[in-house]
Amino acid sequence: PRPVGVLALQGDFREHVAVLTHLGADVIAVRRPEEALAVSGLVIPGGESSVIDKLSRSFGVADAVKERIADGMPVYGTCAGLIMIADRLVDAIRGQQSFGGLDVAVRRNAFGGQTESFEADLDVPVLGDPPMHAVFIRAPVVTELGAEARALARLEDGTVVAVEQGNLLGTSFHPEMTADYRFHRYFLDKVAARASGS
Ligand code: GLN
Repeated sequence: PRPVGVLALQGDFREHVAVLTHLGADVIAVRRPEEALAVSGLVIPGGESSVIDKLSRSFGVADAVKERIADGMPVYGTCAGLIMIADRLVDAIRGQQSFGGLDVAVRRNAFGGQTESFEADLDVPVLGDPPMHAVFIRAPVVTELGAEARALARLEDGTVVAVEQGNLLGTSFHPEMTADYRFHRYFLDKVAARASGS
């Protein structure tokens, strides 16, 4: 079977490689278009989305990633990675682009001031019990859900912080920073389902 990839241009990609490896996946770092075309699924890590955007275009890997997204490859974006797969960006840095694919609007750095970083226990029905302990760091939120996108988790005030649309999965928070890897497993299940043609 083909390996899964982690986009390794900037941000905490090493942590995602470690989690996926721990879960038994064969993992490669993706920096070049050939690598993006070779993987069966891709995780886009947290970091700084404007930098990931710039580097992905200058490394020439952005078009290959967009092509794979359009093709239905499973992609999981966390935090900056969620920004990268969103179709619409609110408060983007001038000229900032995303790969897109996920029919949502995402607001960058949605929590200002002292709540810039915080933790919360989230009810995530698709993952079952127990609630997910989620770490938010200068996190984005989903401000608009397109018709095909569905919320997988919300904060108590209703803010959407996890979303799914077909093979695309995004979370505002960082599961790679806790020991709860159910989102990574959920992503790997999508990859396996697609490989087996179901
Ligand atoms: N604020 C960052 C951005 O806009 C995301 C932060 C993160 O990935 N932890 O890209």
